Amino acid sequence: MVKYVFVTGGVLSSVGKGVVTSSIGKMLQVRGFKVTVIKIDPYVNVDAGTMNPYIHGEVFVTEDGGETDLDLGGYERFLDINLPKENNITTGQIYQAVINKERRGDFLGRCVQIVPHVTDEIKRRIRLVAERSDFDVVLTECGGTVGDIEGQPFLEAFRQMRLEEGFENTVYIHVALVPILEVTGEMKTKPLQHSVNELRRIGIQLDTMVARCDEMIDAESLRKIALFGTIPREAVFCSYTVPSIYQVPLILDEQGMGEYISGRLGVQKRKPDWKNWREFVDSFENPRHHVKIALIGKYAGLADSYISMREALRHAGAACEAGVSIDYIAAEKFEEDLTELELLKNYDGIFVPYGFGPRGTEGKIRAIQFARESDIPFLGICYGFQLAVVEFARNACGLKEANSTEINQHTPHPVIDLMPEQKDIQRKGATMRLGAHKIMIKSATLSYRLYKTEEIYQRHRHRWEVNQNYWEILEKHGLVFSGKSPDGRRMEILELPDRFFFLASQFHSEFKSRPRKPDPEYYGFVKACLSRKLGKTKPKF
Ligand code: GLN
Repeated sequence: MVKYVFVTGGVLSSVGKGVVTSSIGKMLQVRGFKVTVIKIDPYVNVDAGTMNPYIHGEVFVTEDGGETDLDLGGYERFLDINLPKENNITTGQIYQAVINKERRGDFLGRCVQIVPHVTDEIKRRIRLVAERSDFDVVLTECGGTVGDIEGQPFLEAFRQMRLEEGFENTVYIHVALVPILEVTGEMKTKPLQHSVNELRRIGIQLDTMVARCDEMIDAESLRKIALFGTIPREAVFCSYTVPSIYQVPLILDEQGMGEYISGRLGVQKRKPDWKNWREFVDSFENPRHHVKIALIGKYAGLADSYISMREALRHAGAACEAGVSIDYIAAEKFEEDLTELELLKNYDGIFVPYGFGPRGTEGKIRAIQFARESDIPFLGICYGFQLAVVEFARNACGLKEANSTEINQHTPHPVIDLMPEQKDIQRKGATMRLGAHKIMIKSATLSYRLYKTEEIYQRHRHRWEVNQNYWEILEKHGLVFSGKSPDGRRMEILELPDRFFFLASQFHSEFKSRPRKPDPEYYGFVKACLSRKLGKTKPKF
């Protein structure tokens, strides 16, 4: 019998509900439960793909090509599992399905309503995930906060699921902020009490609460939270601020949360085994070395735009005993003032991430040129790969006005061009080249030494690619395409063998990086940054 755990948030969003949800999953996983996680996003977009990362944070890409909320990335990293796109449910998807059914005549003669038709569709989608595999627990996190208008049908569906699945098979967990007043240093539980009341008003009686606070909550506040929430004191936990998110499952488990939830579900599997996780957290938080990386991006003002990249760099750092600090630098900075480029000398590596549209691209191209000419380790991902091709075409092959047609449609040298199958596409939603595709790696290359295999699968999200007509001239000048699609039509990885470390890929390898299993490209990059910093020779791999 599958168990359902529902996580809601109170007071404010962006207080780490996703991390708490991932941590609950982890606490159950180390006890032997087979867990999957669903994220509900109550916005009306069908998926996250059409949203601006500068406002909403990164669009995460699943193996099966879903463009999802970034929380799915967190779940994948904490639990070391691949989630399908159906694990991100939005209001857009639910309404689309209900309206399609209505047009088909499935509800003929009836008035179609939020309850039961919309809530039925929500429950159907949650159960569909549960049926996919023999999961013990399905965790479902609802985005936003309790009281939001758009979240209401989802919370109503959660409420109904207790009636249908039974008390022992459903658990409600609420994560809410407890602010500390700066002037008096007091912990304030009142906002949390209000969100608990709001849940009660719609018929959800909580089982467990997690108070998110800068510090460990005092005994008096814990007692108060339990009292107002009508739950035992042992069911209240505190997610206080810790040096890294990966510590959160450890601190919650120390407070007894893992035991409490598994007890509440009526199944005790095995004793938790934290060895592997603890070792990772230790190496992650106590590095022997340190590297500093410049990330040159368009969305530099919001670190969440690059969250998977940041985590991939850090996982790679942990594997070479190096802490990684990242400065997010707006690419336009290098367009206004060329002397700014000199600043890049202070970094151990230069990283150019994904991106869309013309803004900031000239700055990125200059930063890439600086990395190549000063021989500072460089890693480019997706747009970073395409712009590395543009830079090389301009400055190494002498094609002065080379560009991507995404930036200049009339360039005389369209070294990066729209993929042929993209040319007739008008609709924007879910129409890029998405998800995992096979890549063949050329032997005796840096990529081969890093990946140690001829065949990899990596996730994609793009419309443009390297133009076939320029392969030859680029290669003639020393650029090596070390990864290609199996039919040889699509360039996937480039490298410059004469540089200390210069690598870029059309795919997004950060989406598959996990604690203790860093992606090889990212690992190679951070290792090279460290070697260069320590004055060592080029790493051999
Ligand atoms: N804008 C480029 C494209 O669509 C790169 C996309 C990306 O960086 N994810 O091909």
